[in-house]
Amino acid sequence: MNNTSDPLPPLAASAHVAHVKHALARLPGSMVNVDASRMAIVFYCIGSLDLLGVLETETSQVDRTSWRMWIWEQYVAGRYGTGFRPGPFMSTSVHSDQNGPHIIMTYTALLSLAMLRDDFSRLNRPGVLKFVNSCQNRDGSFSSMPNGGGDSDLRNLYCAFCICSLLGDWSSIDVERATTFVGSCRTYEGGYGQLPSCEAQGGTTYLAIAALRLAPPGPRPRLTAAEQARSEHWLVHNQDASGGFRGRTGKAPDACYCFWGGAALQILGAQDKLNAHAFTQFIAACQFPFGGIGRAPGQPPDPYHTYLSLAAVAMYAPRLEPGARRYGQWEFAPFDPLLNASGDTVRWARSHIPARRF
Ligand SMILES: [Zn+2]
Repeated sequence: MNNTSDPLPPLAASAHVAHVKHALARLPGSMVNVDASRMAIVFYCIGSLDLLGVLETETSQVDRTSWRMWIWEQYVAGRYGTGFRPGPFMSTSVHSDQNGPHIIMTYTALLSLAMLRDDFSRLNRPGVLKFVNSCQNRDGSFSSMPNGGGDSDLRNLYCAFCICSLLGDWSSIDVERATTFVGSCRTYEGGYGQLPSCEAQGGTTYLAIAALRLAPPGPRPRLTAAEQARSEHWLVHNQDASGGFRGRTGKAPDACYCFWGGAALQILGAQDKLNAHAFTQFIAACQFPFGGIGRAPGQPPDPYHTYLSLAAVAMYAPRLEPGARRYGQWEFAPFDPLLNASGDTVRWARSHIPARRF
């Protein structure tokens, strides 16, 4: 484990800004052909600028307006309600139906618009709720598209819960059935698999724990003390000697799993069980010399690992030893581990997305 007296390399903030701005500049303005990865790239790039606190100063009003328009161009209506068109999030799979709304895309688009301080006047709230309802399956799980279309796994369920939470309206889905499904994905180790009987994995464990915490209170606690303790044990066990997190038992540490594992521990209130200095040391070592952050030291950077690494340190840098804070740059504004965005962006979303009540 890294020693807490080891100096922390500086955060190369301006190089990371250049990395994500370069990725944004490569996105063409036309959305005639929807590339399924583009919405995710926009989310990670704009999100990185948001976490670094430079979205207003490092981008022009013209660019921010064009990105908002670009996202709204993906907002489509169908017989199953309204939402944003498909794109992968945490996956590279591309669905064949590119024209209907997609639940992960809808979550991603709502948060990206909140980062860009959109007023959401174009959002059809009942339409979005109808769409989310149409994605719930009989076993409580969610598909990425209506009527069982696309993948069905915990990513979709988490996104459905985020959308209901942001809208402040859970009436369109069966929360009890959904949380029972989440419980069925729990493994003997304390982590969660993508589906029942699947091996526990860091990303899905985060999705499960965040979904259970987002859900409104039910007749019974969403997690028992014993279940929570097993999850904490499994998560802590996945931080290895380098300070980084493994996604699964026996795998190499990866910067994105620092986010999934670190955020899950934050949600469980077990953040003190993680070695924050070694954690930040690992991410600092994943910084690419020319900007951006890769999955491991020496690996090429990409917007996905850059965003999730910044989000990970945003949660833990305030817990660094006092001596480590002399570098200053590793201090970030508060981050919301449940919805995966900066605190300011989540506050904006929560005050602008819910239907106005007169
Ligand atoms: Zn990764």
